[in-house]
Amino acid sequence: MAVIPTPARRRTTVAVEDYLEKIEQLIARKGYARVVDIAAGLKISQASVTAMVQRLDAEGFIKYEKYRGMVLTSSGLEVARRIAHRHQLLTDFLRVIGVADEKVIYDDVEGMEHHISPDTFKAIESLTRYLEKNPAVVSKLKSER
Ligand code: ZN
Repeated sequence: MAVIPTPARRRTTVAVEDYLEKIEQLIARKGYARVVDIAAGLKISQASVTAMVQRLDAEGFIKYEKYRGMVLTSSGLEVARRIAHRHQLLTDFLRVIGVADEKVIYDDVEGMEHHISPDTFKAIESLTRYLEKNPAVVSKLKSER
C-alpha cells in the first residue's frame, strides 16, 4: 500500500537526489536552473528531465513554471543540502585515505552518496575527521600499501 510520508521524512530515490543536487548546484552557480542545463549536467534527454521536473514539482520538492524556471522548496533544499554535505564528506574521506584521481573520486562519490545509511555515514565522518587530524596515521597507512 502506498503511504504518503511527510515531505521532510520521505525517503528519496537516487534519481530524485541526483536531480535536486544538480538543480541546487546550478542555482548556486548561475542563479537559475533550466531543463537544458540539467539535461546536460546529468546526461539525460530533455524530455526525461521535463517529466522528472514535473514530478518533483508534484511531490513538493520544487516549484516549476514552464517559462520562468524552477526554485527549490524548503523540502527540496533540505534534500539537496543533505546530499551536498554527504558529497563533500565522502570526497574528503577518499582524499584523506589517498585516492588521488579527482575524476575517480567524483564518480565514486556520485555512486556512494545515495547508498549510505546515517549510521555508516557518521562512522565515516568520525574516521575522516580523525585521519585529517592525525597525518602520521595516514602516512603509516600509505606506507603499508
Ligand atoms: Zn554528488
